[in-house]
Amino acid sequence: MKVVDNLKNIEEKINIACENSGRDREAIKLIAVTKYVSVERANEALEAGILDLGENRDEGLLAKYEVLKDKPNWHYIGSMQTRKVKNVIGKISYIHSLDRISLAEEIQKRANEPINCLVQVNVSGEESKHGLNPEATIDFIKGLSAFDKVNVAGLMTMAPLTDDERILRECFRKLKGIQVEVQALELKHAPCTELSMGMSNDFMIAIEEGATMIRIGTALVGE
Ligand SMILES: *Cc1c(COP(=O)(O)O)cnc(C)c1O
Repeated sequence: MKVVDNLKNIEEKINIACENSGRDREAIKLIAVTKYVSVERANEALEAGILDLGENRDEGLLAKYEVLKDKPNWHYIGSMQTRKVKNVIGKISYIHSLDRISLAEEIQKRANEPINCLVQVNVSGEESKHGLNPEATIDFIKGLSAFDKVNVAGLMTMAPLTDDERILRECFRKLKGIQVEVQALELKHAPCTELSMGMSNDFMIAIEEGATMIRIGTALVGE
């Protein structure tokens, strides 16, 4: 399938989810996750009108960056090794996986200007998933005030792999709840306006529950 055809399909679903929940299409950023595909395929996504690309490893991001440069906004969506920060820091618009103080320290050390970071929360509590325990998230975010290069732009989560709509909805709703709590604190370093949640299998539900960024790989550019 061509990316434009997949995109048309996905845009229809995004619009339905927006209608279901009374939201504006403009409030949702579609990120094409290109980690499985070639740079040619990533470029096809840009030509289809997509502005944002997501990669989960520094090698993949750097290889595509070589060719596509700053044409897209780059999102780093995978768990980030501390020693990889310096390779990508000047190239990316968002890090979706801030989950520990040592990573914030490295960002602080390497960045020349504030970096938009999303704090990754392991809402479902699955062992295999990265991210902070929901109960620890607020204190973690408060502690980030010490780092003037870290802007807490929002929160990110990965839902469990399931078709059970109730479980998915609950997961996304919990992340939204944490966002509301953070915003109530009115922290200067944590505007927390973004919710990065929703992938190929669950993005409609994520939008209905307040996602502002959806990360789609398989359904958009393929595996
Ligand atoms: C791979 C990946 C995605 C995209 O997943 P699909 O199911 O292929 O849409 C989204 N977010 C993260 C963090 C990923 O690693």
